[in-house]
This record gives sequence, C-alpha cells and structure tokens, in this order.
Amino acid sequence: MSTTPIRVAIVGGGLGGLSAAIALLQQNIEVTVFEQADSLGEVGAGVFIYPNSLRMLERAGLGEALAAVGAKVGPGSEYYRMDGSVVGNVVTADSSGWNGMYGMHRADLLGVFAARVPQGRVRTGHRCVGFAQDERTATVHFANGARFEADLVIAADGIHSSLQKYVVEPSPPIYSGFRAYRGLLAMSDLPGWRERAHQVWMGDGKHFMVFPVRRGELVNYVGFVPTKSQTIESWSAIGDRDELAASYAGWDPRLTALLSKVRNCFWWGLYDRKPLANWSNGRLLLLGDAAHPMLPHLGQGANQAIEDGFALAIFLARRDAAEIPTILPRYQAFRSARTDIVQAEARRNGQRYNSQYESLEQRDREVANAAELRAWFYDYDVGAAATLAAA
Ligand SMILES: Cc1cc2nc3c(=O)[nH]c(=O)nc-3n(C[C@H](O)[C@H](O)[C@H](O)COP(=O)(O)OP(=O)(O)OC[C@H]3O[C@@H](n4cnc5c(N)ncnc54)[C@H](O)[C@@H]3O)c2cc1C
Repeated sequence: MSTTPIRVAIVGGGLGGLSAAIALLQQNIEVTVFEQADSLGEVGAGVFIYPNSLRMLERAGLGEALAAVGAKVGPGSEYYRMDGSVVGNVVTADSSGWNGMYGMHRADLLGVFAARVPQGRVRTGHRCVGFAQDERTATVHFANGARFEADLVIAADGIHSSLQKYVVEPSPPIYSGFRAYRGLLAMSDLPGWRERAHQVWMGDGKHFMVFPVRRGELVNYVGFVPTKSQTIESWSAIGDRDELAASYAGWDPRLTALLSKVRNCFWWGLYDRKPLANWSNGRLLLLGDAAHPMLPHLGQGANQAIEDGFALAIFLARRDAAEIPTILPRYQAFRSARTDIVQAEARRNGQRYNSQYESLEQRDREVANAAELRAWFYDYDVGAAATLAAA
C-alpha cells in the first residue's frame, strides 16, 4: 500500500466542496480548493443541517462551532393547512430522539467550514474552464491562466457544473415550474413568534415555510410559488415582495402578518435533474449538486453533498493514486443508491407540500405520518455505511 498522499483538486468552494475538503484532510489526503469568486461567501438565506450530516460534522470536531451559530430547531414545529389549522408535527429528531437539526444562515455554515480548511488550501479567484487527464494525472485549467495537476479532480461546482460535460452528455437541468421567494427577518420584529419552530403552511398549489437561523436571532422564510416562466437561478435576483405577499393573501393571519414585515427578498428558480448515469470519468468525480441536484423540498441537497464528501474520504483513505479510477465507480454505486431515492423523494414531497393531490385528506395523512421517511434520512450513518462498503 502506498504512503504517498493522494493529491486532490476540488473545484468549487461551496458547502459541498468545503465539507469534502474537511473530510479528505481528516484522512490525510492532500487537498486544494479552487473557487471562482474572489472570496468564499454565501448569500443571506437559510439552510437546514439534519442529523444525517450533523453526526459526521460533529465527529469531525465541528460541533461546538456549529452550535455557536446555528439555531436548534424543535418545539412547536408543525405543518398547517393554508388557514392555519394543524396537520401534524414536523419530525425534528432521529429515531433515538437525538435532536440534530439546526437552522443555519448559509454564510455562517460556510464560515464554519472555511475556518476548518487551512488558508493555503483554498485559492479564490480561480474559475475552472477546462479539464484534461491521462493515465497518471488530471489537470484543471482556470480562466486566469493558472493550471493545476492532481491525482483526482472533484467537481463540486454546483448544478451548472462546468466539469460535468467531461463525465456525461451535457443537458440542461429540469425546471420544476416553481420559484422560491426567500429572505430573512429579525426575530425581534416578530413578537411572540415560535423561536425554535420549523413551520410549514400548505395549500392552493404552493407552500410557505419558516425556521430560525443564527442562534434564533433571524427568521428564514421561503415561499414556493408556481410560475409560468422560468426563473433564473441566482440568489442576487431581487424578488417582488408585493407579488410574494399577494401569493398568500387570505392565508393564516400569522403568515400574512409575517409577510407584512418583508421589505425585500430574493427569488430562485427551482431545478433538478434525473439521476446521472455516471458521476466519474477516470480521475474526475462529480460531487454534490454537480452530481445529484435535487429540489429543496426535503432540505437535503447540502446534507447529501456533505454525506458525499465523508463517504468519499473513507473510500480513498490509505489508497494509492493509481486505484482512483476503479474506486470512483464503487463510490458512485454506494452513494447513488441513496441519492437517487432522495432526488425522487424530494420531488414527491414537493407534490405533498404544494398540495398537488386530488385528495387533501391523503396529503394530510402522508405529511402527518412522515416519521418513517424522516427516520430513513436522519438515522443514516454514512461513516459506518461507507466503511462497510469500502472494505
Ligand atoms: C430554495 C432552496 C432551499 C434549500 N434549502 C436547503 C436546506 O435546507 N438543506 C439542504 O441541505 N439543502 C438545501 N438546498 C440545496 C443546497 O443549497 C444545495 O444542494 C447545496 O448548496 C449544493 O452544494 P454544492 O457545494 O454542491 O453546490 P453550490 O452550493 O452551488 O456551490 C458551488 C460552488 O462552486 C463555485 N463554482 C461554480 N462554478 C465554478 C467554476 N467554474 N470554477 C470554480 N468555482 C466554481 C460556486 O461559486 C460555488 O461556490 C436548498 C436549495 C434551494 C434552491
């Protein structure tokens, strides 16, 4: 067995790329992250971290840092019909009762990850524009003229991955027909609001959700509204707050009161893909949204990207660079068995939340009885499963 560390180049310094870097560094694998932006950063919006990824992040020693910026989500978490009547409780713990669910400001989460990757390991201002490989090495090319050689290149460059075309035939992502309006409010602007609750209102072909972030100082809201035209996929697209408020006129007064406080919001078109046939080609591997973009209706996109990185690190631990092209398909078989299901379930959950059901009683039953589905997500220990699969 070789003792020469594998050299990995990660393209994309988002939640998937940085968490993969942390996982690989833990296994003494040499990592360099290349991010196109001039600094690492995320937009002002929320993201859930669930038990399935939190258990890995805590094992990696990030528990305290996450607890310092996250908002533990728990009591009062409920699903409602559009009039505010209760459908059921939101599951906020795994089957053992461990509440491993944080509402996070995306920038806070990225900050926790970035603080864990040694500075010299991240190169910002590097937009990847090309890739080449031979039997021994992979090379990435950047718009600034730089190039970098590695034993493995990980494309963690999101749903519009520039490297995906080196693995599969290019195809555009699939538009869901929905737009997400998203923003943050100060908790202090919402007297009496349930501070630790994830709350979801469903009806009339759309849904709306609220959860706390940043230690509960901020409230993250998202309105999922059907659109006729495709919405561009950018967090910098300014949403129309009046249009957002009009979409939920006549709903639960608690929700309309919250919307009356909104001064500005962003919007984001929702896209996913069908499972890709291949995630790797030789020494190039797709990870996170580049491999398996999913609709956000289970809040699992980033969580699955985090699982990817920890699983990959276990598959590569103590391996020789020459083995990479044979390890990657095995890693994909292991991961895609789970992510194919998550992609499909995220779509189905969107149908539930958006009330795309003939029978609302059936919708209510499925939403209220989600414990089994949630347990499948939350109880999963990717570290243990990958250790078995990689043996
Ligand atoms: C409305 C909404 C709500 C969501 N809520 C949740 C949630 O609660 N929980 C959850 O787990 N997931 C959620 N998601 C999904 C989650 O945001 C994504 O799955 C996750 O961000 C994917 O991470 P990634 O690192 O793979 O890709 P990205 O976050 O897209 O990061 C890609 C990175 O690569 C960089 N990059 C791109 N191209 C290049 C290039 N050519 N060269 C160099 N760098 C490049 C980008 O600048 C970026 O930093 C939500 C998504 C949406 C739309």
